[in-house]
Amino acid sequence: MGRIVLNRDKCKACYLCVDACPKKVLEEDKTVNKLGYYPVRVNNQEECIGCAMCARVCPDIAIEKVYR
Ligand code: SF4
Ligand code: SF4
Repeated sequence: MGRIVLNRDKCKACYLCVDACPKKVLEEDKTVNKLGYYPVRVNNQEECIGCAMCARVCPDIAIEKVYR
């Protein structure tokens, strides 16, 4: 099982990572972050395979680490 380290306060809510994730792990959060955006949150942690596609597409480096 994989795991990501997400810095929600860096996220600008473009949701590129939501579309890039092959396992539908990520979704929109319900509360705003420090930048005033609704960032992504980890929804299905158990489904993460650690492929790092989310981190690769993120323009803001909000997904800081990926563990496989
Ligand atoms: S790609 Fe990065 S900035 Fe865009 S929603 Fe995902 S974590 Fe946030
Ligand atoms: S590492 Fe892969 S499976 Fe896990 S959240 Fe990112 S894109 Fe989805």
